[in-house]
Amino acid sequence: MNNIAEQLSAAYQNISENCAKLSRDPAGVRLIAVSKTKPVEAVASAYQAGQRQFGENYPQELVAKAEQLAALSDIQWHFIGPLQSNKTRLVAEHASWVHSVDRLKIAERLAAQRPASLQPLQVLLQINISAEDSKAGISADMLPELAQAVAELPGLTLRGLMAIPAPGDSKRAFAAMQKLSENLQQQHPGATELSMGMSDDWPLALQYGATMIRLGTAIFGARTYERNE
Ligand SMILES: *Cc1c(COP(=O)(O)O)cnc(C)c1O
Repeated sequence: MNNIAEQLSAAYQNISENCAKLSRDPAGVRLIAVSKTKPVEAVASAYQAGQRQFGENYPQELVAKAEQLAALSDIQWHFIGPLQSNKTRLVAEHASWVHSVDRLKIAERLAAQRPASLQPLQVLLQINISAEDSKAGISADMLPELAQAVAELPGLTLRGLMAIPAPGDSKRAFAAMQKLSENLQQQHPGATELSMGMSDDWPLALQYGATMIRLGTAIFGARTYERNE
């Protein structure tokens, strides 16, 4: 698992170099280590190497890891996968961030289920920026209304936007997301986060203002299986 520490250190170095080229402050870029399908030991190794922000796609897997690693109390779990209403409680009770809110009903459930003893859940709205039939996320024209409704809910804080562009569409999609983010911030000045960029396209995402990049393969190596829920 030493490999994980090396990959993390290489990724942070690489982010710093990219930020220097773009005259961006690397402190404004959060690396989310996407640990889905990887064993809890892999998360622990990354934690030992200093990583605190982890991304998971499946509610039960997030909860299982959060419970096993409960002693590491400063871990922040980011839920980044599709969220069905019968799984919102798991996320409301264990995650610090949710990147994939795309329906008011889901946001309302998260708000109602967020324990009062925890900080508000930090929420990003997912945009289906490549307009793919198969993908989660709202269309850009629905954003103002959903953002306003989410901003009014207790227990949640609207923090920004997330997208997963279709293959080959990253550049156009990232540019479009940057514009949407700028517009959103006029109404919601606190919604400054832009979660976009994965292992194969994150340097491009940084050019278009990404503040959170979600790296799985680059940190933990290839996944041997993908789950579907
Ligand atoms: C799996 C996943 C990632 C990480 O993908 P890599 O290509 O392995 O970096 C990032 N974001 C989401 C939403 C994912 O599902």
